[in-house]
Amino acid sequence: MADGLICTSLKSPNTETGLAEMAEAAEHADLIELRLDYMDRPDLPRLLSARPRPVIATCRPVREMGRYRGPESERIALLEQADHLGAEFIDIELDSASQFRRRGRARLIVSYHDFESTPADLDGIHARLVRAGADIPKLVTFAHSITDNCSLFHLLERVQQPTIGLCMGEFGQISRILAARFGSFLTFASFRAGEECAPGQIAAPILRALYRVHRIRSDTDIYGVVGNPVSHSLSPHLHNAAFEAAGLNKVYVPFLVGDVVEFLRSFRAFGLRGCSITIPHKEAALEGVDEVEPLARQIGAINTIVERGGRFTGHNTDCAAAVDAIEAALRRPGHASDSPLRGKRVVIVGAGGAGRAIAFGVRQRGGDILIANRSRYRADRLASDLRCKAITLRTLLKQGFEADVLVNASSAGMYPNVEETPVPRKFLRPPTLVFDAVYNPLRTRLLREAEETGCPTVSGLAMFIRQAAAQFELWTGHAAPRDLMEGIVRKKLEKRATDARE
Ligand code: NAP
Repeated sequence: MADGLICTSLKSPNTETGLAEMAEAAEHADLIELRLDYMDRPDLPRLLSARPRPVIATCRPVREMGRYRGPESERIALLEQADHLGAEFIDIELDSASQFRRRGRARLIVSYHDFESTPADLDGIHARLVRAGADIPKLVTFAHSITDNCSLFHLLERVQQPTIGLCMGEFGQISRILAARFGSFLTFASFRAGEECAPGQIAAPILRALYRVHRIRSDTDIYGVVGNPVSHSLSPHLHNAAFEAAGLNKVYVPFLVGDVVEFLRSFRAFGLRGCSITIPHKEAALEGVDEVEPLARQIGAINTIVERGGRFTGHNTDCAAAVDAIEAALRRPGHASDSPLRGKRVVIVGAGGAGRAIAFGVRQRGGDILIANRSRYRADRLASDLRCKAITLRTLLKQGFEADVLVNASSAGMYPNVEETPVPRKFLRPPTLVFDAVYNPLRTRLLREAEETGCPTVSGLAMFIRQAAAQFELWTGHAAPRDLMEGIVRKKLEKRATDARE
């Protein structure tokens, strides 16, 4: 049961840079791939004698999306020289393998690339690579959907011989993280972000620090966030750190998914133990699970799936997270028995997924709700499900309102529209408690103006951490490390705000 090996691909332009980059890459890499096709007149004796890690020598021709344009005989001779000088691995393309003559003890990686798709006959291709003399067959294909990864995972699980299997492209990124989980001999990483040798490659420091790829094994449990888009999600940072802190053999990845029901059907067989569901799949995911927890069924949306005994159950942790964050701010010492929301006038702006979850939670606690939404249709639909009053946001602001609690559950004010606010300052009066579900930025314009007018406030971060902590607890049965989670999200959001200003 080998743990995940990370091989950093270097496309250094010359020998001097190659030597410096090898030394730097060694911090995160178990192996180093020298892409000799990027290098001007590589000095192989110097490079190989200074290698800090085992090396794969590769010289990819243009026809295989490499940079090498010279004669084929010289390309093969360069690889034979690398073998002679002691390189641990030589990578040669399937159509050139028969020309390569072994000159040393390197293990031969015979590689097959499909830059357009993931072909159906992966077994046949694997057999051809073996017949061509591969010690380690390598199949790298292009993923057009998340389920293309499954074809490669399936092959990796079945073959006996050490094999490398990865998918290129944004949909294939998870294969670069989960390679070892399914038995790939290694995963390739870029030296730094922006220096990828293939589409979808992830930088080695991220594979190691964020996903702890070096500790992924065949018994590592898989979790992730299912969304589209999903690359911006903070959840992998927070959940991987929480798994690490609890010493759990689990990894959490971003699943870029087009069809959530198909995704759940496919990944059931590949060790998916749970996931977070985000925009735009919270409603459609109901169709992909075996059971739905009753409140989530009423809300009509799930943000969490838990696998137990091969069955998926859908939950909604947004609801309790928001209500708990509001109650914590309303509660006075010594009045802990009933919900402080009981009988309170609660104006909820927004009737999307978050609005629905918050409204159902507030109603459960006895709050008196008014839904105010930009579009009439959605406001009416939610109000009819809840049997409460609804109004358009425009009318609300025209006629004014009185509220004990004002909730923004709309996207107004969310990054990048940070100067937007759903409710202008003139409507904000103490002692109204103002809660903004938006957490990026941490301090929205609504919260800033509410604070300036003396209103108590609750930020979307309080809800975000609570919903994530509840997910962690459902998945693991352990208490969530909330302070750690909050610290990570705060740091990430503050960095994003600084980067956006620069
Ligand atoms: P959603 O289902 O897409 O709904 C978006 C809602 O915002 C709709 O009611 C929409 O009104 C309204 N809206 C959009 N732009 C608006 C604008 N400029 N002015 C006024 N209303 C506007 O999204 P969602 O899942 O409910 O998420 C809404 C917000 O909550 C997002 O910012 C999200 O990040 C946040 N959220 C936070 C947490 C947390 O843990 N803190 C959890 C979930 C969501 P129409 O119906 O008229 O389009």
